[in-house]
Amino acid sequence: MRADPIQRAIDEDLVRVLYAQDPIAFFTHWFSIAVLVAIYWNNIPHPHLFAACFIFYGFANCASLALWMCNRRWPEAVSPRTWINLHAARGALLYAAPGLAIWFAFQSPHTDLPILHTVMLVTLAAGVFMSNGFDVANFVTAIPFLLLPAIVLHFGTHTFDRTILAIVLAFFFCAINVYALSYRKLFQRVVQARVDQQALAESLAAQKLVAEEASLAKTRFFAAASHDLRQPLHAIGLLAASLNDSSATPVQHAKTASNIANNVEALNQLFNQVLDLARLESGVTQVIRLHFRLSELFDRVGSQYWPQAAAKGLALRIAPTDAVIHDDPVLLERILSNLLSNAVRYTEAGAIWMGYRRAGQREGGYIEVRDSGIGIPKAEQERIFEEFYQVANPRRDARQGHGLGLPTVKRLVEMLGGKLQLRSTPGRGSVFRFPVRAGDPLRIVAGLNDSTVSGAAALGRHVLCIDDEPAILEGIESLLGRWGCVVRGVPDEPHALQAIDEGFMPDAVLCDYQLANHRTGAQALGAVREALRGRGRERVVTLLITGDMASVELEALALQGIPVLHKPVTPARLRRTLEMLWQQPGAVADAPGERAQRVTAQQPATTRG
Ligand code: ADP
Repeated sequence: MRADPIQRAIDEDLVRVLYAQDPIAFFTHWFSIAVLVAIYWNNIPHPHLFAACFIFYGFANCASLALWMCNRRWPEAVSPRTWINLHAARGALLYAAPGLAIWFAFQSPHTDLPILHTVMLVTLAAGVFMSNGFDVANFVTAIPFLLLPAIVLHFGTHTFDRTILAIVLAFFFCAINVYALSYRKLFQRVVQARVDQQALAESLAAQKLVAEEASLAKTRFFAAASHDLRQPLHAIGLLAASLNDSSATPVQHAKTASNIANNVEALNQLFNQVLDLARLESGVTQVIRLHFRLSELFDRVGSQYWPQAAAKGLALRIAPTDAVIHDDPVLLERILSNLLSNAVRYTEAGAIWMGYRRAGQREGGYIEVRDSGIGIPKAEQERIFEEFYQVANPRRDARQGHGLGLPTVKRLVEMLGGKLQLRSTPGRGSVFRFPVRAGDPLRIVAGLNDSTVSGAAALGRHVLCIDDEPAILEGIESLLGRWGCVVRGVPDEPHALQAIDEGFMPDAVLCDYQLANHRTGAQALGAVREALRGRGRERVVTLLITGDMASVELEALALQGIPVLHKPVTPARLRRTLEMLWQQPGAVADAPGERAQRVTAQQPATTRG
């Protein structure tokens, strides 16, 4: 049996073709009845039986027309296959009468009656072949009734010419079956081609629609992006020009300079948002899952937004939870920051609520951020996830954001393997919710906020830094030195290998992506890992720092789970990433003095941005 849609399409076409012939068949059968009765009229054998047979033939013909009318009037009443089977059953009734009636011819003394009746039957068989040959059920319920009794009765006469006639009829019977078989195959191929063509046309139309929508979205994106980028640049240009005004007082100059600084900051924020989004799109952002207490993350994010909420007179409620989850705390923090920032921005009165709902012991649960703000109309609930789309900021006032928060949140949630859900009623508020995975309390390596408070994880760590830019190397060395790390800065791969040869065993290797002599950071890290392996250090934390956005190699590194940080890297970001990587047991030997205490059951890092 074929795949369902094709078979259904074939059945639907069959129903159309089979029933289309029925009104013509109705008149043909009345004509056949008239001809047969005329042939037998002078000497009707077994008159009662003959009358019964031909009345039955007439009724079957009328029933066939009634079936046709039902199909026209209620085509959906039954499935196409049932219509085909009903038509086949009607065929059996309709063709049984004339087919079996040849027996009367052999009861008659007129020797030419069997011949005349046979001619009539062959004519009907040709008609069946033309109109019902496409379907096996309709064919086999008609042709044997029409031809087999005639063949058997002609053979039964044992005369030479009738035997020849029976053989010819048998040959005709076989030939008509073979032709009907290829007829059916042809019909199926034609229908299949039509269905394929229709599917192709539909898929092309759908692709065209997607392409048109993408092109529209791109146009909107560029219009909004260029506006939002140009606006602060334009302001900076004007303000910078006014600095040349010799008549301005020092106070006015100071004010202008501060305005310039504000606009630069706005531009910087916008660039960071766009770059963040581009990084998510390019697939180089990595996910590092840790087991941690959700309450720590809630406290951390909540404390950032509590002052803003309080300034607007809003209550920021964080539901207490003892849940341990297994997810990426950095990405979750970005998600929650965006959602809380929106909740505060779009709520004028009432409260904001952030909490966790358990979905079951094993599956984890959902984090929800609710507000009692302005809400989002149904018609806008899909579009707000498009880049630069804002519901009510037609003048694109930068103070009301840029419309990049929710697209970023949506992609982050998807990266973590979930789906962002939104419920919102205009005037009553909104609920954003997304799933998180259940964690294991026994696998918590360190509190989320421990490292930033005590800095213990970095203290005494040996870090090897590879960068061919002396200024950057110097900056990183001094930064890591302040965190209590023992740092060795080298300009390239040979110097790095030399440092290892001299006995410097790093807990982490930081490497710039683009090195001198056409070497990449990935190659340098490979060589360093190899050298360390030769000295018995199997695993070491490695971190690439790059300004590139989306190279194939970076994507491959992300897939291999090699963490990549994108420039500009803030000290806090570098620190948190290193701390987290050091928390991944097995990634490197533990910090001095802590080695024995660390739990070693954590999963390895997978992917980070
Ligand atoms: P931004 O907030 O910077 O404008 P977002 O992408 O975060 O950009 O949000 C897009 C739009 O969705 C916003 O302009 C706003 O109209 C709507 N929106 C987002 N969050 C909320 C919320 N909590 N309540 C009401 N509207 C919201």
